[in-house]
Amino acid sequence: MIFNVIYDNQIIKQIDFETESLILNKRLSRAIKTFLILLTCCIFSVLIPVFHFILVPGLAIGSFVIAYLRYNESVVVYMKNAECPGCKSSLLDKTYFRPSNDFSFLATCQNCSSDVKYKTLR
Ligand SMILES: [Zn+2]
Repeated sequence: MIFNVIYDNQIIKQIDFETESLILNKRLSRAIKTFLILLTCCIFSVLIPVFHFILVPGLAIGSFVIAYLRYNESVVVYMKNAECPGCKSSLLDKTYFRPSNDFSFLATCQNCSSDVKYKTLR
């Protein structure tokens, strides 16, 4: 799938990334894994004095919300050879995203913290 690379609100170039649509089983297993990790943290946060009044409800609600958000991420983009236009360091190897109306996603450079937007041509 071909993406426009948008940096500083300007289209710099076009780049072709390999994409994969995740099947239902894979989306469910990612969501359940996230849910169980957060729920385990929630259970153990009962042991933390005072802060458990914030941590327990926060993690209990967060486990549902974040698992739901992960379930909605149905496309994985393999960003091989993607580099930051600002500092030329390499970006993430792959990213999961939820297809929105304009079918775009944001990648943040870990070196210089600048945002690079990738948007499909359609
Ligand atoms: Zn950078």
